[in-house]
Amino acid sequence: MCETATRKSWTYEGRDCPSAVIAENDLALSFIRDDRLDGYSYVIPKRHVPLLTELRDDEAAAVMSMVRQLAGAISAELSPDGLNVFQNNGLVANQTVPHVHFHVAPRSAEQMATWEPSSDRWSGDIQPVESRRELAHRLARHLELGAS
Ligand SMILES: [Zn+2]
Repeated sequence: MCETATRKSWTYEGRDCPSAVIAENDLALSFIRDDRLDGYSYVIPKRHVPLLTELRDDEAAAVMSMVRQLAGAISAELSPDGLNVFQNNGLVANQTVPHVHFHVAPRSAEQMATWEPSSDRWSGDIQPVESRRELAHRLARHLELGAS
């Protein structure tokens, strides 16, 4: 198990941040970093895996099950107005720690979540529905359980 998953510490901007474990099983671990008290949490696979695409299916299932349960727990316990789940892959996607981690982020109406586009590719014109459906179909052909 790599240091990220040892639960003892989480290095952030050069600081050693002891983490608070929320739940743990053979494959997945969830924790709260020490600089958050609003329920903002993380779920990681225990095995060192930098990218989502490198997870095994059993790891992906364990991690996502924990994400779902944690989201429910946060909602029940903190009653946020909303909740984001997100996961970044690669530096240009704003992944700063090279170990797969899902953010589970409760949101309040006062702190509305925003998505800041880093390039105008994210804020371009609406694409024609035909083009989007064609792309969806091309993608679906790669799915094991795809149906259309
Ligand atoms: Zn790691």
